[in-house]
Amino acid sequence: MEKKIRDEIEEKVSIILKKVNVDEPPIDVEKVAAFFGLPIVYYPNFPDSISGTIIKDEDLLAIGINENHAEVRQRFTIAHEIGHYVMGHDENKILDDTFDKNSEKEKEANVFAGELLIPYHILKRDLDREVSDIPSLAKRYNVSEQAMSIRLLETSLINNPNLKKPI
Ligand SMILES: [Zn+2]
Repeated sequence: MEKKIRDEIEEKVSIILKKVNVDEPPIDVEKVAAFFGLPIVYYPNFPDSISGTIIKDEDLLAIGINENHAEVRQRFTIAHEIGHYVMGHDENKILDDTFDKNSEKEKEANVFAGELLIPYHILKRDLDREVSDIPSLAKRYNVSEQAMSIRLLETSLINNPNLKKPI
């Protein structure tokens, strides 16, 4: 993905976090969804392959989440669906989401989700302030260790001297 799009997403997220007054992890994704007027509906009967979806019913938009998935995955999915909404992706049909589709929209929504759950400026501030490692950071941000590792790589913060490397 172009750096320009990544920069735009980072900028968008930073404005949103200011508006909702969130400056500490873990990021309250339900609060962000509420800011955009998006109710979250938890479904016990989604097939395992569906993490979440945007639901459009006449004028009502909502985020549907697979209730059986782990909390960190649900949080990522909520952030991903907010990404579709914020970036004006097709709201006119239900978007069934499995995340493994390679379309640009899916990639953008994933970048948005990573940025929202682990905002660059907050992660950098945390790492500059104290020594940490990936499991502790994942816990602090309430994300999976995989999501945290990806974020550390894409932001190059993996090279921060305060990050303890796994042995
Ligand atoms: Zn999606």
